[in-house]
Amino acid sequence: MLSMTKINRSQKFVTFDGTTENVMSPDPQSRAWVEVDSKAIENNARVLKNFIGKDCLLMAVVKADGYGHGSETVAKSALTGGADSLGVATLEEGIQLRNAGLKCPILILGNLINAEELYSSFCWDLIPTISGIREAIICNNIAENNNKKFVIHLKVDTGMTRLGCDCNEVEELISKIDCLENISLKGIYSHLAIAEKDLENNTQISFTWIQLNRFKKVLKDLSKRNESLCRHLANSAGTLSDSRLHFDMVRVGLSLYGYLPLNEFESDLNLTPALKVRARVTLIRDVEKGIGVGYGHFFKTQRKSKLAVVAIGYADGVSRTLSGKISASIDGVLVPQVGAIAMDQMVFDITDKPDTKTGQVLTLLGTDGEVFLSPQHWCDLSGSIPWEVLCSFRNRLPRIVT
Ligand SMILES: *Cc1c(COP(=O)(O)O)cnc(C)c1O
Repeated sequence: MLSMTKINRSQKFVTFDGTTENVMSPDPQSRAWVEVDSKAIENNARVLKNFIGKDCLLMAVVKADGYGHGSETVAKSALTGGADSLGVATLEEGIQLRNAGLKCPILILGNLINAEELYSSFCWDLIPTISGIREAIICNNIAENNNKKFVIHLKVDTGMTRLGCDCNEVEELISKIDCLENISLKGIYSHLAIAEKDLENNTQISFTWIQLNRFKKVLKDLSKRNESLCRHLANSAGTLSDSRLHFDMVRVGLSLYGYLPLNEFESDLNLTPALKVRARVTLIRDVEKGIGVGYGHFFKTQRKSKLAVVAIGYADGVSRTLSGKISASIDGVLVPQVGAIAMDQMVFDITDKPDTKTGQVLTLLGTDGEVFLSPQHWCDLSGSIPWEVLCSFRNRLPRIVT
């Protein structure tokens, strides 16, 4: 993705007769783009930090290129807003942030399995997540050969059934890890599987409650250990729903970007959505009643209509499953999308907004004046989730940071 500030738009162009001319490369806002409000992210981090209180650390989760917002931008804004550390999914994501000059602790949430990757993580001062003794031994060997301790976090599976060691085997595993002299185990964590659902007032019904109790049991068994560990469990949903899930650190992704985990999720926090998806009208058409529009003619005009062709499609991250279901805003007026969403284009019915001009900007997601178009709304229409919607804007859309 391009970032406007980084583009040198003046380029030398060599003509057929060998002379050179200065030409401009395309304006990143000429077709379709993503706008990221870095101040909103900074503010959301501040709101979240304030909410969790001074005894709890805030990890900003910036995996998948910062949920489609640009990991470098998001990381810097979150740290300015008070985040203490960063979470990424992969080694490459961590290295990218180090290359961007970020010095804070960075935890890799995925599992690195081979010595090369773990060595790289060691060299870049990235903290790997360990789920078993196999990787712990590799880490120990790496550290021994380099005369420096390898800081790791241990993951415990309390019911997600993904990464993490069995919660009944933690005590034994840690006693083994503690015998590995070159490892410095600094953190222990688990991940919630269905935290979007509430804790249901302490009853045993909630699975989050079961996970919490399993995690607490593990911690109790470890209380005899000399060195204390950074304990963390909550994602955004856990963070927002109950302070008993906070422990020493929370790992927030979605809420940092200004979104709540579910439609019915309630929160008094003043979070600001940071992302806008915008595109320009490339052609305006006047058509008669009964005309088929786009691939498959899924839509036929019900009246004499004015249509706007807009240069954004599923290759840019707008799912084809949303065809004929969404609306966009032009100057705060909603216009319906009609016909099939194609790879690069889609059509809007602007009959009721007839003053629309070629080149005019539509907002597909985010705020436009009084209108707010939410990713959650797209999810309700397409069966997706906000996380997936946000990280689908990649590849082709330039990103403008404001
Ligand atoms: C992605 C991720 C998070 C952040 O989850 P959100 O629901 O976006 O807040 C936290 N912890 C782990 C382990 C993750 O993979």
